[in-house]
Amino acid sequence: LFVSFEGGEGAGKSTQIRLLAENLRAVGHTVVTTREPGGSVGAEALRHVLLSGAAEPFGVRMEALLFAAARADHLDCVIRPALVRGEIVLCDRFVDSSRVYQGVTGNIEPPLMVALERVSIGTSMPDLTLVLDLPADVGLQRARRRAGASATAETATPDRFEKEKLEIHEKRRQGFLDIAAAEPERCRVLDASLDVEAIARSILTEVTQVIAA
Ligand code: C5P
Repeated sequence: LFVSFEGGEGAGKSTQIRLLAENLRAVGHTVVTTREPGGSVGAEALRHVLLSGAAEPFGVRMEALLFAAARADHLDCVIRPALVRGEIVLCDRFVDSSRVYQGVTGNIEPPLMVALERVSIGTSMPDLTLVLDLPADVGLQRARRRAGASATAETATPDRFEKEKLEIHEKRRQGFLDIAAAEPERCRVLDASLDVEAIARSILTEVTQVIAA
């Protein structure tokens, strides 16, 4: 079973993946937790390039190709082998993050997105995608708190750049919701503003249903 977790920054994906892995292991499943960009040796090397700022001078197409290359390696070296062994794979971000970050807000035209998806994953879509949905301002605040910003900066009235940021986050949130609406068989939207335990329970229910089906 291949499950991906999607959503903006601060939605709580990594916490929920950890809790779901614990819950599934407790009932005897073998679980692999992994993340994107990264997850394999080659893809982690690309993650470093993509997230360290080293990729800043790159064009958007090159960046999108690197995300796709990382995903291909991650699938070949980690995800598919685990699925072949019959294990449950929980992945923090997958192809929907590219659709949203590179596609919706990254200026990559739809035909290139389709082509990149075809070469990087083929038909290897997740069996289940859990979208952790959160209002953009709440997600931004949580992410900023995690990054160690001061309380005053969090509560200050947003300046022009903050507003632009908020607009981008709102577009990404809508991007994930649009994907979920277009692919209801694969995707479930969860309210990420609820408390951690409540979200964990809903996720376990969803996953248990898919395992039983
Ligand atoms: O920790 P988290 O998964 O939220 O951070 C990964 C970051 O990588 C995201 O915040 C996003 O900016 C970036 N990313 C991206 N395109 C992807 C996947 C991740 O821009 N396809």
